[in-house]
Amino acid sequence: QPYGRVFNFSAGPAVLPVEVLEQAQADLLNWQGSGMSVMEMSHRGKEFQSIIDGAEADLRALLAIPDNYQVLFMQARPESVLVLCPFHPQGGASSQFSAIPLNLSAEGDTLDYIVTGSWSKKAAGEAKKYGKVNVVATGDNKSVPDPSSWKLSPDAKYVHYCDNETIQGVEFKAPPVVGDKVLVADMSSNFCSKPVDVSKYGLIYAGAQKNIGPAGVTIVIVRDDLIGNSRPSTPVMLDYKVQADDKSMYNTPPCWAIYMCGLVFAKMRRDGGLAAVQQANEKKAKVLYDAIAGSNGFYSSPVDAAARSMMNVPFTIPANAELEKEFVSQAAKRSMIQLKGHRSVGGMRASIYNSMPLDGVQQLANFMKEFAANSA
Ligand code: PLP
Repeated sequence: QPYGRVFNFSAGPAVLPVEVLEQAQADLLNWQGSGMSVMEMSHRGKEFQSIIDGAEADLRALLAIPDNYQVLFMQARPESVLVLCPFHPQGGASSQFSAIPLNLSAEGDTLDYIVTGSWSKKAAGEAKKYGKVNVVATGDNKSVPDPSSWKLSPDAKYVHYCDNETIQGVEFKAPPVVGDKVLVADMSSNFCSKPVDVSKYGLIYAGAQKNIGPAGVTIVIVRDDLIGNSRPSTPVMLDYKVQADDKSMYNTPPCWAIYMCGLVFAKMRRDGGLAAVQQANEKKAKVLYDAIAGSNGFYSSPVDAAARSMMNVPFTIPANAELEKEFVSQAAKRSMIQLKGHRSVGGMRASIYNSMPLDGVQQLANFMKEFAANSA
């Protein structure tokens, strides 16, 4: 790989396109003749304004975001983070677990949560501080529960779900059908991996550090009519109205992270948009799932075929879990790193986000075959 880079299968922060890193490197000392790097420029200057405007315009074009939605580049400053999530200095998608109920509901309101894995469980847990959480359905960590079993409440302010459970590798193949309810989606780990009909959602949020950039910024796409009713206790940094009115610049935004996301969005547009991104991702996922299926049971996918994630592919060695450690360590020696499954589920996990090249996935599939043959 160029620059001695490894194939990084991390669930996040994750791999970025080499082309984008090269651009950032070229811009580092002097962004487009401004005489300074993006890290050094005033967020109120015309240079940074053009960067954030360009990033937003490219994201709007990629996702065909309707005009009645705001795109917010959110963060969380230490003063609000200290109260909300003391171990999470940049706020991230986790700060939206509290921002959503604070902005979209009043005290005592009912809030519907579909739980399909660790992240939606966490989101529901946080929301319990702010409202009456109704768990619509709880998955078995390997499938999306059958919609006929869902218990939607008639009066919920919104229905929250996680479109792709990063840890379990469970992904919705279509948005949940929730009637006229406001649908809220955590798309942190599959954001911009495929086209999405934004008009089906009230709110979509995603931490940047998987598919679109470095940690430090969280994208929130929110419909206009849901803005402006935050609770009085909402920290100012988490208030969608404040962020929308101030165009994500109530305070100093994470300029560098936004600039990097902008480079990634521009590249995705040059490469043919999200339909092309989806095609490439489907191809990569097929290589891996085929490698599991073609291993005569040596490897196993814990997820039902209908819910298998295109981004995070967990797999195990069912006959001998001891071999899993060996697999991870031998893969690392071949420059394929971060293949250990999340500590809560074990096994292996290959995260194959947008920027993982097909070549990396093919090399992993070849290694899987070789490892199985050598272990037989
Ligand atoms: N939601 C999902 C689906 C995630 O995968 C993650 C992080 O991995 C989060 C939320 C939390 O994101 P952050 O670390 O930015 O708070």
